[in-house]
Amino acid sequence: MTSTEAHLRLSPKKIDPSKTEAHLRLTPKENDIVGIALRVKISIFLIRDDARSTIVRATCGISKSSCIQLIKQLTGKSPIAGQLPTDNDWIIKSPTNCLHASAYFRIYKTIIDSYKGHEDDFNSSSFKAFRPLAYLSAYNMYKNITGYNLTGSKPHLNINRAYLITTLIRSGEIVSVSCAKCDRFYVTLHGYPPMFRFCPVCDSRQDAKGRFRWNNLATKPSKTG
Ligand SMILES: [Zn+2]
Repeated sequence: MTSTEAHLRLSPKKIDPSKTEAHLRLTPKENDIVGIALRVKISIFLIRDDARSTIVRATCGISKSSCIQLIKQLTGKSPIAGQLPTDNDWIIKSPTNCLHASAYFRIYKTIIDSYKGHEDDFNSSSFKAFRPLAYLSAYNMYKNITGYNLTGSKPHLNINRAYLITTLIRSGEIVSVSCAKCDRFYVTLHGYPPMFRFCPVCDSRQDAKGRFRWNNLATKPSKTG
């Protein structure tokens, strides 16, 4: 073997099958190049919004190693470990939580409802990216409406919490109800007793530190929306 050949030869250490990103190759079944490109693009936006790797993978259907690679490239750090939000009742824990969850709910539902009548297309390859795109779009609109995009401050509803809320909306565990007093819509948990449903506008007060708290008053039964 000449010295040139020796230089060109890859040593065993340089060939690591787990790092060749073979999973990114299109298999015979993976012929939706545009769909794949879109899902990778959405993954990048989600990671920039601090979405956890589990959520990026679940949302966009990319492999674990691809996701870790993307996170390292974009943030220069390894994925954050730890538990994801799992407390479904976060939305009713405070008027502020309820208000922000309600805003996100309305935006997400409006996007999803705009595609009513095209449900059959959701199974086609061209629509595989629709749901992750709806989640990302709804979250961006939420940040715009609440002003977080302008101020650059940390959103009250973070993107990982928004993912949990999205799954609860889809499963029907979060519903929208209208306030009997002001007629505004707000979110609550499905099956939650009407007498314990509180409007974040009418049934809240500010404490001495400026934080919004629920009044200890039962409201009139709300109408399910
Ligand atoms: Zn109200």
